[in-house]
Amino acid sequence: FDRRDGVIWFDGKFTPWADANVHVLTHGLHYASAVFEGERAYGGVIFKMREHNQRLIESARMLGFEIPYSVEEIDRACVETLARQGFDDAYVRPIAWRGSEMMGVAAQQNAIHLAVAVWQWPSYFDPAERLKGIRVDLAEWRRPDPRTAPSKAKATGLYMICTLSKHAAERKGYADALMLDWRGQVAECTGANVFFVKDGVIHTPTPDCFLDGITRRTVIGLARKRGIEVVERAIMPEELAGFDECFICGTAAEVTPVSEIAQWRFTPGEVTRTLMDDYAAEVRAHAKAAAAA
Ligand code: PMP
Repeated sequence: FDRRDGVIWFDGKFTPWADANVHVLTHGLHYASAVFEGERAYGGVIFKMREHNQRLIESARMLGFEIPYSVEEIDRACVETLARQGFDDAYVRPIAWRGSEMMGVAAQQNAIHLAVAVWQWPSYFDPAERLKGIRVDLAEWRRPDPRTAPSKAKATGLYMICTLSKHAAERKGYADALMLDWRGQVAECTGANVFFVKDGVIHTPTPDCFLDGITRRTVIGLARKRGIEVVERAIMPEELAGFDECFICGTAAEVTPVSEIAQWRFTPGEVTRTLMDDYAAEVRAHAKAAAAA
């Protein structure tokens, strides 16, 4: 991935892709003092870019550091990098981290860096499998108590749990893993939020110890616009037997149907299909409106 063509916005400068390197004594690498975003552009326009870049700034604050760029400057870095890369539909990855001036747990003096990379990432899951519904395992690892980690930050350190869970699932032939939280309640997948449908009503876990995804909030809005009831509540894994449909959503995953989670089976149906279509229409309408403005 590090030997591609193109440029990466790196501390305010466009740097050739292969030269966008950091020192091995970077604090962010040793102690996970790094936060990032995942954004998608459709038709050359980044969907909900301001919300993502604002969340990046807030994630950094939750880790105790201030990104030395305003949200407007981060927005501009994303827009210009997308334009330089020349893609209409693409994934946008800003990342901020503590640098390498001091080594040790404490790194109060270390400079804060910011980079933005853009690449094409068409479908997060195998397209054929995605339409049938992906197979998801139940992870052994759990989302931490908010008193254990800043669980609402999009912080790199929290992804250790996600990579462990996703690798374990893939070794068993699954596409992804569903993680419970420290209380044993259903939380989220390794890069997406989860939704269930029963008798036409949507149920989704209350995001009190995991990312309240921007896609999650968009999908809840789209469902309510359709008159579909959405209930946010604590969901226990035993309840999974009683749901008809299941889907996950996130910037990269978009709306993806789920056909099974461990021993539980779901049939992608009317609600999932409607929201897949509505989400696809919403991101395109957003791009059209921005182009017309
Ligand atoms: N949970 C996790 C662990 C994620 O990585 C993501 C993707 N950023 C999400 C949920 C969904 O967030 P969003 O809709 O803001 O992309």
